[in-house]
Amino acid sequence: KVRVRFAPSPTGPLHLGGVRTALYDYLFAKNQGGEFVLRIEDTDTARYVEGAEEYIEEALEWCGIIADESPKKGGKFAPYRQSERRDIYDRYTEQILKTDYAYIAFDTAEELDAIRAEYEAKGDVFSYDNKTRNRLKNSLALSEEEVQKLLDEKTPYVVRFKMPVDRTLNLEDIIRGKSSVNTNTLDDKVLVKNDGMPTYHFANIIDDHEMEISHVIRGEEWLPSLGLHILLYEAMGWEAPQFAHLSLILKPEGKGKLSKRDGDKFGFPVFPLNFTDPATGNVSQGYRESGYLPEAFINMVALLGWSPADDKEILSLEEMTKEFDLNKVHKAGARFSKEKAEWFNHQYIQLKSDEELLQILKKSDLNLNMEDEKLLKIIHLMKERATFPKDIYENGKFFFEAPTSYDEKASKKAWNEETSAILGELAANLQSADFNAENLKQIVHDFAENKGLGMGKVMMPLRLALVGELKGPDVPDILELLGKEESISRINNAIN
Ligand code: GLU
Repeated sequence: KVRVRFAPSPTGPLHLGGVRTALYDYLFAKNQGGEFVLRIEDTDTARYVEGAEEYIEEALEWCGIIADESPKKGGKFAPYRQSERRDIYDRYTEQILKTDYAYIAFDTAEELDAIRAEYEAKGDVFSYDNKTRNRLKNSLALSEEEVQKLLDEKTPYVVRFKMPVDRTLNLEDIIRGKSSVNTNTLDDKVLVKNDGMPTYHFANIIDDHEMEISHVIRGEEWLPSLGLHILLYEAMGWEAPQFAHLSLILKPEGKGKLSKRDGDKFGFPVFPLNFTDPATGNVSQGYRESGYLPEAFINMVALLGWSPADDKEILSLEEMTKEFDLNKVHKAGARFSKEKAEWFNHQYIQLKSDEELLQILKKSDLNLNMEDEKLLKIIHLMKERATFPKDIYENGKFFFEAPTSYDEKASKKAWNEETSAILGELAANLQSADFNAENLKQIVHDFAENKGLGMGKVMMPLRLALVGELKGPDVPDILELLGKEESISRINNAIN
């Protein structure tokens, strides 16, 4: 049975890379008819950030990435928060200490510092490896009685992994293929800290085993830990899951990892939702609050590192689920593009009905004091040019407010000394007109013809009078929507 987990640490808001990992976890699990699990890895209390867990849950929900099992939902392997699984870890700590893969280390920070200084004096890089291990106070060097005595005296200790000496580990990754690593390049990682809490490495493999995880799909920053994890499975006598490490999301210029700061630099969000840092009160801008539709957002994220067989670009979550293939995930980093993100949003706005867009706009803080029927018409006219829902309002602002000034350049182009008289006469014609776009178009057309004027000579100043600049949809459509009274009043304002 395929079971995949997303295992974020609540050390801050989820970023683009995290969302992509969660999405690929979800897509792979669902594509395989399996289960998707959300597990919160909160054993590192020093890095815990208030509100981060809630943020992660809310962000995934907004994206439509819904877990089958999670801290909120529960499930047969509950609890799904590592801080609540201490008894499970205690049991396995006891177990690994009975093997030759772990030991109790009593060395103090001072003792370690002294050895580190020695290394540095010789120009060597310090590593807590088998050479260091043999010089320190630990259960490998002391007799059983001595160890027991120290424990009885409540001497602080950690449990460390005893990295085997000079072994070549063959590693396999679904995306990257085979590689190998020599254990001499790895160190004796702490498995259990002196407060009794397991570190990420130990808790992670215990939970993946306990929760029957079949595939671990995660960011490439964990690739250097793969050797240790494989050895931990060996130490525990467990079968390891299969691994897939996702490449980085790169900066827009293509070099280097996309970072939190790039958002400010290039003017796009790196988080799905707004996040208020509890320590500083600073707000990081989110995709949701910036006007991205969740469908557009996850579509964009999904294609950062994967493309479906036929290179189709617009896919719903359901379609992505059907087509997702881990073997087609790219080995190279994926470059983020703000323009592409906006392109996706524009596409998804076109796919929404006017009614759906109306509901979205109504939920925003825009001041839309107008009846729905008219709003729907504005949406219909303006959505074609909208990247964000609010563009419909902002680009169509003249539907809500009469112009109070006229664009200078446009005035020079559209207006001359005869214009006022021409528009005045047209306004008189409009008094008795039936205000539908088709009819209005005919009226303006006939008017221009009778006067022996080109269409532009009438349409341009008329547009300027109604809009304040030479922008917007077709003039007859604007006239119809504004209605007779408002249209004529705007013309009169412009010519007086
Ligand atoms: N808690 C780790 C993180 O925050 C999980 C890594 C993994 O998926 O193994 O990224």
